[in-house]
Amino acid sequence: MELVCPAGSLPAFKAALNAGANAIYVGFKDDTNARHFTGLNFNDRQAQKALALARDSGVKLYVAINTYPQPTGWSRWQAAVDRAVELGADALIIADMGLMTYVKEKYPQQNIHLSVQGSSTNAASLKFYKEEFDIKRAVLPRVLATKQVEQLCEKSPVDLEVFGFGSLCIMVEGRCVLSSYITGESPNTCGVCSPAKHVRWEESANSRRSRLNNVLIDEYQHKENASYPTLCKGRFKVDENTYHALEQPTSLSTLEIIPQLARMGIKAIKIEGRQRSPAYVEQVVRVWREALDAFKQNGERFSVSPQWLEQLDKVSEGQQTSLGPYSRPWQ
Ligand code: SF4
Repeated sequence: MELVCPAGSLPAFKAALNAGANAIYVGFKDDTNARHFTGLNFNDRQAQKALALARDSGVKLYVAINTYPQPTGWSRWQAAVDRAVELGADALIIADMGLMTYVKEKYPQQNIHLSVQGSSTNAASLKFYKEEFDIKRAVLPRVLATKQVEQLCEKSPVDLEVFGFGSLCIMVEGRCVLSSYITGESPNTCGVCSPAKHVRWEESANSRRSRLNNVLIDEYQHKENASYPTLCKGRFKVDENTYHALEQPTSLSTLEIIPQLARMGIKAIKIEGRQRSPAYVEQVVRVWREALDAFKQNGERFSVSPQWLEQLDKVSEGQQTSLGPYSRPWQ
């Protein structure tokens, strides 16, 4: 299975490369991708440098243009496609059908991968994207159980990629408007959940509070690790109890089901985190490289090393990992 890794900067790109990525995905410095944070992403010169590094190492470069074009910005999304094709990207990761139409009409030879933001969760939908836009691969949302992924693998007319490690969203990707509810901006339209300009930290003698557009998201005692405030992972007062009412911070990790995913026919594993540091990328990619190599060598005798878990726990949200919706023992 191809190991597809994130890079939000050239140092992160090099880290992914050195740690053993098979493919690396990047975005441009604007709202055409779903990690539009200040200081992140690539200008043309950096993208060319990244491509040269990738070519030298036999690694693929994908460009994410996976937000939904807004009425006032269509030319920006077209320009992002033009730049990525001119760069020589191995594939464009796209969610919007209008943008796919633009690619197919202007660049019929260009590979397209359906972004997770496209929220394709059934075989009929995958067939539609294949027939209409000749997509080569689809990235499945992180809301499917392993049984559902297996059923899709049996019927899918295109290669399938699933998430292996990273933040867990509780919503179906491409359909979350929680951030927009408070800030007017969401990942799907503006490329960012919880825009930094709306984030405020307040220090007091006993605690640290995080706010998003003035709404209190969480309050931490001084010894507690504080997380970047997203609405879904805040602690809220419900009746008389204050807790993570929507979702507890946890990272997805599917190391233990690598053999199962391979048996199903999954072609690629994606690591989430273009917003993460080079050190994070290096750590996670290195563990996953070791795990996939160990699986290749040992096949069904593959087992998860305690050291891998220990290393991943250190960089996980809430210092804990989960199989997320992949595991539904009650079904
Ligand atoms: S609010 Fe939460 S579920 Fe929605 S996009 Fe942001 S992190 Fe994901």
